[in-house]
Amino acid sequence: MRVHLCGVRGSTPAPGRDFLRYGGHTSCVAVCHDDGPPRLILDAGTGLRPASALLRGEAFSGTILLTHLHWDHVHGLPFFAAGDRPDARVRVLLPEQDGSGQHGTGQDGTGQHGTGSAEAVLARGMSPPHFPITPGELRGDWSFGFSAPGEAKAEGFTVEAAEIPHKGGRTFGYRISDGHSVLAYMPDHCPTELGPGPEGWGEYHPAALALAAGADALIHDAFLLAPEVAAQARLGHAAADYAVGLGRRAGASRVVLAHHKPDRTDRDLDLLAARFAADPRVMVAAEGTVIDL
Ligand SMILES: [Zn+2]
Ligand SMILES: [Zn+2]
Repeated sequence: MRVHLCGVRGSTPAPGRDFLRYGGHTSCVAVCHDDGPPRLILDAGTGLRPASALLRGEAFSGTILLTHLHWDHVHGLPFFAAGDRPDARVRVLLPEQDGSGQHGTGQDGTGQHGTGSAEAVLARGMSPPHFPITPGELRGDWSFGFSAPGEAKAEGFTVEAAEIPHKGGRTFGYRISDGHSVLAYMPDHCPTELGPGPEGWGEYHPAALALAAGADALIHDAFLLAPEVAAQARLGHAAADYAVGLGRRAGASRVVLAHHKPDRTDRDLDLLAARFAADPRVMVAAEGTVIDL
């Protein structure tokens, strides 16, 4: 499995000279079968726009899996050139919303039509007057559906989804396996919602531990630093220290600290990396990094 970090920023993009090395694009990770093209894309933040380059001029054929629908995870969707073309095939899966199972999931249950459908839920944020076009107006063969807790197949990967605490909208963490390697992905996670946990950084709860168990890499929310948790956990995020603690407890081989605060400069992130330099399993996510698992 090859993993490309296309966007590692949280909340808003962070352009400017202080953000060049770690990058300013918001959440997006492209997953490939070894050296093949990306087939599975995790989140559609603005990092989805540069992800097109990974297709080397070819159309995207695959699945975009959304952890949740906050702006920093969907704003790249209409700017994915490799997906917005007539020969593309794009399946978008977002977490089942409250009530989405009861109505409007379409005659074939795929979430294609109706006010509660996956497409309609996405269109609440992507349609006039908020945006010039709707999801249905993207070129190519786009389809929209819901992901549900549990195991499913997508593009030759096994995908396990579990609900994790965040803020303002249902949020999933994902565990992706190709039968050889495992990637766990939790870019937005607020474990203090479930209690302070042993260090005050949040609970090491069963869903997070199960998603990360024995993973070859855990890409996790590191929006906060430990001293910021008490005052800022209300924003819905985790501390880098919690991410490392979760990786250790779950036996993950590598912890990738991601979803950086938009005002966290390259220098700040160098300092974060230095704090964990003694643990070779910990790395601070930088846009453009390729991780082979
Ligand atoms: Zn986010
Ligand atoms: Zn979020």
